[in-house]
Amino acid sequence: MRTLIKNGTVVTAIDTYPGDVLVEDEKIVQLGVSIDVPADKVIDAKDRLVVPGGIDVHTHLDMPFGGTRSVDDFETGTRAAACGGTTCIVDFAIQDHGHTLREGWETWMGRAQDKATIDYGFHMILREYNESIGKEMGKMVDEGVTSFKLFMAYPGVFYMDDGSIFRAMQRSGEIGATICMHAENGLVIDVLIEQALAKGHTSPKYHALTRPPQAEAEATHRAIALAEMADVPVYIVHLSSAEALHEITTARDRGLPAFAETCPQYLFLSYDNYEEPGFEGAKYVMSPPLRDKAKQKDLWRGLAGNDLQVISTDHCPFCFDEGKQLGKDDFSQIPNGAPGIENRMSLVYDGGVRKGYISVNRWVELTSTSPAKIFGLFPKKGTIAPGSDADIVIFDPEARTTISASTHRMNVDYSAYEGRKIQGVTETVLSRGDVILEKGNFTGRPGRGNYVKRGTR
Ligand SMILES: [Zn+2]
Repeated sequence: MRTLIKNGTVVTAIDTYPGDVLVEDEKIVQLGVSIDVPADKVIDAKDRLVVPGGIDVHTHLDMPFGGTRSVDDFETGTRAAACGGTTCIVDFAIQDHGHTLREGWETWMGRAQDKATIDYGFHMILREYNESIGKEMGKMVDEGVTSFKLFMAYPGVFYMDDGSIFRAMQRSGEIGATICMHAENGLVIDVLIEQALAKGHTSPKYHALTRPPQAEAEATHRAIALAEMADVPVYIVHLSSAEALHEITTARDRGLPAFAETCPQYLFLSYDNYEEPGFEGAKYVMSPPLRDKAKQKDLWRGLAGNDLQVISTDHCPFCFDEGKQLGKDDFSQIPNGAPGIENRMSLVYDGGVRKGYISVNRWVELTSTSPAKIFGLFPKKGTIAPGSDADIVIFDPEARTTISASTHRMNVDYSAYEGRKIQGVTETVLSRGDVILEKGNFTGRPGRGNYVKRGTR
């Protein structure tokens, strides 16, 4: 099967040029100014950008959380991802207390296998550390799980003490794996939550007020210091505040392998959303919380200057009418998370490239190339080059649309961006050579997505 993409503008992390792309079966085989060979399918990409498929390295599909679960499974979640121009995700498999890592990984593999419409990999969340888990970490790396996520937040659920974190970090260093860190000081946050509730402060905005940016900055600083002593790269997930970014910038200026991602919600939404009337603020309850609008410029500066390397979504949807209502009388019971897997590429194009904060090449780098490099997927994924997987997005930079829960493909009853007008829309998507979105119509099949074994550093 040969597919020829003609007349487009090819954009990678480095180059922008008019050109054709030839795909044979699952791979890109040739690039050129003008390729004229017989093909089974020709796609005209005139006036379109031809970019590597987006890679979202932070998603939570079909994830149990506090008596409920995230409402997108691997079918609806990956379909929505594909419709928005994302062709590969790295989700989080979770180890249960007293259970092996392999059990956790196999559980998530089972959830994805017959459902995923695009390729997927897994990070592994560790809830505890001991010698046998350390041994198993090496085996997970052999299976292509080459990053481990630890939590400094959520005492009693995911929280790990500094000693255990340090041991897990040392072990990761030995086996070439990367540590992903949820950096918030969970012990202090729990005190603030208890004190807020004691004063009768129960509404959603107190979620944000009990998780101040200092709690994120302090944990970020500590995570970097622990990683420096353990001699391992550290990747801070969902960095939300200018204060935490300052810690990353300082570490990188010293030459440390400290990395961080931010997410569209921290760039386009703010604390003001928690002040929406009634219980509406619950739609934006996630951790870390949305921050002060005035400081979003700092995040853009970090993204442009490479102090932040990745934009992921932390897609973790709970319905407003059911899941979020668990916290109607107590903000601390609102499931943490918001939908976004479908909107990332367009939001960042519209609000980042079109607004002049980042170049179109940097957009590709932040949403595809750089996550592929950090998490062992490159050059199989993350670029348009001969030999790479034919994960390709044909993107219309002029098309306009309005984000709404009434039209989005995510399986959730609200959008955090309801009514937002954007310019720049994913039109056609190839996943390993298969056209799975054609001019906005999804044609992919559940179960066609492959597990991707990721490499080490
Ligand atoms: Zn997350």
